[in-house]
Amino acid sequence: MNNPVELILKKRNGISLTAEEIRFFINGYLDGSIAEYQMSAMLMAIYFQGANGDEIAALTSSYIDSGRSLRFDPSLPVADKHSTGGVGDKISLMLAPIATALGLYVPMISGRGLGHTGGTLDKLEAIPGFQVQYGMQEFQRMVEEHGLAMVGQSAEMVPADKRIYALRDVTATVESPALITASIMSKKIAEGAKHLVIDLKIGSGAFMPNLRRAKELAELLIHTGNSFGQKVSVVFSNMNSPLGHAVGNALEMIEAIEYLKGNTLPDTKLLTDTLVSQMLISAGLATDQTQAVTLIDKALSSGKALQVFEKMISLQGGDPEVIRDYSRMGTAKHKIPLIAGQSGYVHLIDSRAIGYALVKIQAGRMKVSDTLDYSAGAILYPKIGTYVHKDEVIGYIHCNDEAKGKEVARLVLDSYKLNEIECHPEPLIFEITGG
Ligand code: URA
Repeated sequence: MNNPVELILKKRNGISLTAEEIRFFINGYLDGSIAEYQMSAMLMAIYFQGANGDEIAALTSSYIDSGRSLRFDPSLPVADKHSTGGVGDKISLMLAPIATALGLYVPMISGRGLGHTGGTLDKLEAIPGFQVQYGMQEFQRMVEEHGLAMVGQSAEMVPADKRIYALRDVTATVESPALITASIMSKKIAEGAKHLVIDLKIGSGAFMPNLRRAKELAELLIHTGNSFGQKVSVVFSNMNSPLGHAVGNALEMIEAIEYLKGNTLPDTKLLTDTLVSQMLISAGLATDQTQAVTLIDKALSSGKALQVFEKMISLQGGDPEVIRDYSRMGTAKHKIPLIAGQSGYVHLIDSRAIGYALVKIQAGRMKVSDTLDYSAGAILYPKIGTYVHKDEVIGYIHCNDEAKGKEVARLVLDSYKLNEIECHPEPLIFEITGG
């Protein structure tokens, strides 16, 4: 007979738990026989002692079994992407329709923005009428019929993760690689993705400070996916400069639509190409990145990826006219220029500080309950290594509260560290592993 206290003690002392013990603990927490304080203690024990591959697989399996999973026909190439979150990261909005246009089935479950990072669901909701809450059956039907749906996590899928994530948030145990792995992978396995690419971001706008720590997490993610028969590749990408030009919900949506119309930007193009290529290669639809990029460019130039996106907007209740008329998403009253106070090369951008500054004009949120102003945000041109001239306009703050907008403009300008010493652009993609 398992005893919760004995199991906490075992883990606290660095002894591995069996799959059966982990299942007992998770199920006990869900049915109320194991108390919140005992789960909190167990999370802290895992935070300090870590967990081996078998324990993480057992945790992932218990999470999945707490809810329902999507089951696609095994012959369908079902693929998805996960990003660990960044500033200006609108890649999903381009990647998903491109991948679908090229024959992949993409059941994308996205999240909301919190703190300095944005969330895909908020960007989608900048489109009037767009719905993100669907039951599992409806979600699966949309993916089977259209090849793509972008929704929020339903209460039926991985409810254990939902509860435990909330508890991690208030017990300082979010940053455990073992707990992060079970949390991410349970959702990606339950949604039925056989091919997964993970954009693991490193740098000032990311939660991973360096490549060494990111590699440790990548190993756990790949091992866990593989143990459930999922092919996983990880792209380590640079999050020291915000991605693209736009940060903010409607502004990012406009940038994504422009991209699908063929007006791409160098950094978002490289990252989207790299991530979609991994999905296509994993599913056997391309042999290498060169072939994949040729296919991707055709999906853009033929207008097929844009058509997929427009149809998804209609199917999910949104106003498809936004594709042609951006003002339907709302336009901010004020556009405050960001004027460089000095000349020099951009040596550093505090992307995290930019994300937090934009929360002040409601482009993001600090608490889940905060309301958003979809039209608010920033357009930011320089990247690390760009030379900026004194008095040059390096971007704009879009806002509806001018006083707050001016304060945000100061904070955003302060996030750029300029210096006359030459500084070279940084690589955007550090490495690719797995697959
Ligand atoms: N994203 C998740 O879904 N879970 C984590 O634990 C961290 C990031």
